[in-house]
Amino acid sequence: MDAHKFDAEFAQDVRRSNEATHKVLVGIAACERERHFVVLGFGSVYDWLIKRHKFSESAAHRRVQASRLLALVPEEKFTSGEVNLSTLTQVATTVRKEEKRTGKRFTAEAKKELVAKIERKTSAQTEQLLAAEFPEISTAKDSLRTLNTEESRLTTDLPAQTRAKLERLKELLGTTNSAEVLDEAFAALLANLETKGMPRETTAKLLPRKLRRYVIQKAQTCEYVDPVTGQRCNSTHNLQVDHIIPKAKGGTNQLNNLRCLCRQHNLHAAELVFGREHMNKFRTVRERSRDYVAYH
Ligand SMILES: [Zn+2]
Repeated sequence: MDAHKFDAEFAQDVRRSNEATHKVLVGIAACERERHFVVLGFGSVYDWLIKRHKFSESAAHRRVQASRLLALVPEEKFTSGEVNLSTLTQVATTVRKEEKRTGKRFTAEAKKELVAKIERKTSAQTEQLLAAEFPEISTAKDSLRTLNTEESRLTTDLPAQTRAKLERLKELLGTTNSAEVLDEAFAALLANLETKGMPRETTAKLLPRKLRRYVIQKAQTCEYVDPVTGQRCNSTHNLQVDHIIPKAKGGTNQLNNLRCLCRQHNLHAAELVFGREHMNKFRTVRERSRDYVAYH
C-alpha cells in the first residue's frame, strides 16, 4: 500500500481511538457524578474500574484523574489529539498536588487556562511546562513495587521530622535496617489500634469505641451488596459502623442492628432514608462538588 494512503487510514484509526477514549472518560465522570459505583457495590470509582472493568490500577488512576478535567476540554481538542489522556492526567495530578500544598482550590477558570496551555504539547513538554509553573511541587512520587513474593520496594520522601524519628528508632532498636524499624513500628501501631474481645452491647446514645471496633474487625470489609448483581463492596477504606435501622428512626446499638460499611456506602444507606440533599451536608466539599460539574 502507498505510504501516504496507509498513513491517512491510520490517522482515521487514531481518531476513532481518541473518540472511544473520550467516551470512556465521559462515562467515568458520569459514574462518579451520579455515584453509580455505590449502587453497583464498589467502594470507589477506582474499584469499579479495576474489579468490574479490569483496568490496571495505574490505568484506572490516570482515567479518573483525566475525567475530572474533561469538562474543561472541548471534545474536538481531545479527538484531534491536541489534548490527550496523558497530558490531561499530568495537569490533573499537578492541580491536585498544588491544591494539597497550598490548601486552596483551583477555580474552573484557572484549570481551563492551564489545560489550554498544554494543547498540542507532548508529555515531556507538558511536564516541563508544569514544572516551570509550579516549581514548589516535589516531583518525587511514592512508589511501592512488588519485587517478588517475598519482598516489595518502597520509595518515598521523608520530611526532616520523620527522618529524625526513623534514626531515633534505629538507635533504640539497635539496627541500621529501615525495613526492620518499619516492621516493628507497624506491629506496635496495629497492636495499639486493634483491641480484642467482644464488647458489651449497649443502648446508650453514642456508640462506644469498643463496639465500633468490634463490628469493623468482625466484618473486615464493607458489607454492602448490590441486590441486583450480588457484588459485595469489600472495600477496606474508611470503614464505618452503620445502624441498619437509623437511630433517628428508633434503631438501637444492638449488634444485630449494626453493620460495617465504607464511607460511600454509609452515606448511600443514609441517603436512602434521609434523601441526597440532606446527606450532602455531611459530604466534604470535594465530594459534593462532583455533583455540580457540568459535562457537555
Ligand atoms: Zn462499600
